[in-house]
Amino acid sequence: MQTLTHWIDGAHVTGSGRTADVFNPATGEVQAQVPLATKSEVDDAIARAAAAQPAWGATNPQRRARVMMEFVRLLNRDMDKLAEALSREHGKTLPDARGDVQRGLEVIEFCIGAPHLLKGEFTDGAGPGIDMYSLRQPLGVVAGITPFNFPAMIPMWKMGPALSCGNAFILKPSERDPSVPLMLAELLKEAGLPDGVLQVVNGDKEAVDAILDNDTVQAVGFVGSTPIAQYIYARGCANGKRVQCFGGAKNHMIVMPDADMDQAADALIGAGYGAAGERCMAISVAVPVGEATADALIERLVPRIERLKIAPYTAGSDVDYGPVVTAAAKRNILELVETGIDQGAKLVVDGRGFTMQGYEDGFFVGPHLFDHVTTDMDIYRKEIFGPVLCQVRAKTYEEAMGYAMDHEYGNGTAIFTRDGDTARDFAARVNIGMVGINVPIPVPLAYHTFGGWKKSGFGDLNQHGPDAFRFYTRTKTVTARWPSGIRQGGEFNFRAME
Ligand code: NAD
Repeated sequence: MQTLTHWIDGAHVTGSGRTADVFNPATGEVQAQVPLATKSEVDDAIARAAAAQPAWGATNPQRRARVMMEFVRLLNRDMDKLAEALSREHGKTLPDARGDVQRGLEVIEFCIGAPHLLKGEFTDGAGPGIDMYSLRQPLGVVAGITPFNFPAMIPMWKMGPALSCGNAFILKPSERDPSVPLMLAELLKEAGLPDGVLQVVNGDKEAVDAILDNDTVQAVGFVGSTPIAQYIYARGCANGKRVQCFGGAKNHMIVMPDADMDQAADALIGAGYGAAGERCMAISVAVPVGEATADALIERLVPRIERLKIAPYTAGSDVDYGPVVTAAAKRNILELVETGIDQGAKLVVDGRGFTMQGYEDGFFVGPHLFDHVTTDMDIYRKEIFGPVLCQVRAKTYEEAMGYAMDHEYGNGTAIFTRDGDTARDFAARVNIGMVGINVPIPVPLAYHTFGGWKKSGFGDLNQHGPDAFRFYTRTKTVTARWPSGIRQGGEFNFRAME
């Protein structure tokens, strides 16, 4: 069995304390042990990062950007290797794992333009002989704490901008799939990143708390579930840090009666069941407007769900989704399904009996479809994070939008319609951070920013895009006055301008 490490000062370092099992979700086997860092290991990694940061911060932004440029080349070179390692620990299909790497890589591409974003501002002649300029300076040592569901993309969303701004970065990846983050660290070293500027500390709550309580750490970016996001936000802020935390989701897709029903059904299948529903931008609630729309949708969804190919990532490129990440995740999903039945929702497609032949110990969950879900049910209120789609029937557009607006989460939402006026009204009024119009998973591209509202996001600014460069820098404004006396002393009565 493989024993994983931390990544300190540009090298693999074995842990000294507790460890956790890393599973192959397809087989249910433990394939590696990951070290869980102690407080003193984390403090040591941070102190070393602080020692490495000044030289990196003083490196000119273009040279730092060149490291990112080379990192992009290496990511492309190793794409298949990264995707395979990612699928093996996470369980998602190979094409989806490539997408995970790709959407991180695109943020690194954006970081190549960091010099432009770090230029600051200049006012020439703000007063007589006075210039004023603003500098964007790195914060020093900053940290990122990331979830299991995008083990390549989200670490890159954090480390790319943080490092490009001249910070040293402490990454605490998910302990459930830590291999890819370590591989990313190796590639960054190969790309020319100086040792110590990126430290990867594996661990759990103890490591996270050590980061939150360490005075050297100036900023923390977190992505994960809402209860932990709230906890990290509160503790990090109480300790005087800059903190942004992105949390869970319950994304609604409104289907208007004028929508193309086949398109809407296809979109729901991909967005509801892709990656076994383990995406913060997955659609977990379909809200058709009108009984006829609801019936038409169910009629189209059922045969599509029955055709889904659920299998390990090794079973070919036509696999629709694989296992969920752990046995505990599987248990939680199936328990929520039971509450849905008990609380009166109609289980139209029942995936409870699903077993994967030859992989009986894997964490596979069959697809579920609930109809007639109401807002008081646990399956509606809670994030299930599994292949379970809930349909809530609405009588009107206002009622449908109201469901999305009244839910405590506000990450993403979508509307399917042929009517531009309705779509425009929805985008303008809905209180949710990312909106799709006939697009089920509206994840913004690297040069825009990503972030949810309400209980899906805490703190200021979004992830990636220009916001990330604001989050990982602080502004210093200089007012400079140069008295004219010295210059006059050297003049010989030839005054061209007063
Ligand atoms: P999680 O909250 O369990 O873990 C996230 C990170 O927090 C991990 O690094 C973990 O080690 C750490 N952690 C866990 N428990 C902790 C504790 N008690 N104290 C301190 N740290 C702790 O989330 P997850 O299961 O890895 O990821 C899935 C969740 O992430 C879902 O809720 C999903 O919606 C959310 N997510 C949100 C976004 C977004 O951008 N909004 C993106 C991806 C995932």
